[in-house]
Amino acid sequence: MSQENKGVWVFSELPTLTYELLGKGRTLADKLGTELAAVSISAGADGRDYIQRGADRVFLVDDPGLSTFQVDGYTDAVTALVNEHKPDVLLIGATRNGLEFAPRLAERLKTGCVTEATRLELDAENKFVLMDRVTYGGNLVETHISRSKPQIATIAKGLFSPIQADPSRKGEVVKSEPSIKPSTIKVLETKPKTAKGIRLTDASIIVSFGRGVKKKEDMAIIEEFAQTVGGAVGCSRPIAEDLHWLPVDQYVGLSGQKVNPKLYLAFGISGQIQHQTGIRGSRIIAAINNDPKAPIFEFSDYGIVGDLYQVIPALSNAVKELGKAH
Ligand code: FAD
Repeated sequence: MSQENKGVWVFSELPTLTYELLGKGRTLADKLGTELAAVSISAGADGRDYIQRGADRVFLVDDPGLSTFQVDGYTDAVTALVNEHKPDVLLIGATRNGLEFAPRLAERLKTGCVTEATRLELDAENKFVLMDRVTYGGNLVETHISRSKPQIATIAKGLFSPIQADPSRKGEVVKSEPSIKPSTIKVLETKPKTAKGIRLTDASIIVSFGRGVKKKEDMAIIEEFAQTVGGAVGCSRPIAEDLHWLPVDQYVGLSGQKVNPKLYLAFGISGQIQHQTGIRGSRIIAAINNDPKAPIFEFSDYGIVGDLYQVIPALSNAVKELGKAH
């Protein structure tokens, strides 16, 4: 183990997630008495927004070959930066891209990678970061430490709070031009994740449904309600994997998307542990189910026992009336 690694670094291709990582990174860096840096790759940004939100230094990688996410190019770029500056801790946004990139980076650097950590704290001697992650379908929380450096963890959106931007904060922007091999991957087309163009992982309201919806045509009720409340449509695994009513990108849970909306609405979803695991980060969970004993009610903030075919239209009318009143 090298003793020379210093500094907490953060990276995500999503600026909003980078702000959240900077929030947590600032706390860790202050406790360690070290600097906080952000890596920004071809974001067309000047790095100042990251300084305003807590970074002491921003490494700007501006390479035309990296204008869209390329796992091999991103790995080349960040490996070169890490080898040059040797950070102690590296927090990476657990987006789909981040989850593809982080383990490759860890392998190149011959270090560990804790995926989807839910809690990060320093040990008593401020030597290692204790990294918790949920495992066994949500039944266990493991605490990991990485004895090799940098200590790498991926972090999902919505777990940590960003620092309020302070335009007077000062920091250093370092332009970096690491040598990157031409990518072996060619991007042909990029599609939004949902029909409405909102990614589930970015949505602040998710209207999700399960096998309580009986026919494919009845999805219209859910879609209309989602439109009324300005939400994205999600579903349980059987809807996507077995019935193929929605793309697999739209199911939520252990093997699907992990989401962190302000409001998660679960309509006709039983709430098995595998579904629960994906919605833990939601601020408020509300469910409609006609079975009062459905497990979903055990972890919902609000529950309505009833037939979704009757409750959703009534709810929809109530929301529209509220909209008129304001
Ligand atoms: P059901 O369990 O059949 O529940 C339907 C619910 O609708 C019931 O509670 C019922 O009371 C209610 N209902 C019926 N009619 C009405 C009505 N008219 N009005 C109101 N309510 C009604 N599942 C996921 O969702 N995501 C995952 O990522 C995932 N990963 C998995 C990984 C593994 C390894 C395994 C083994 C399973 C995984 N599953 C996952 C599957 C999971 O265990 C459940 O089978 C699944 O979540 C159930 O989906 P559901 O709630 O839509 O269906």
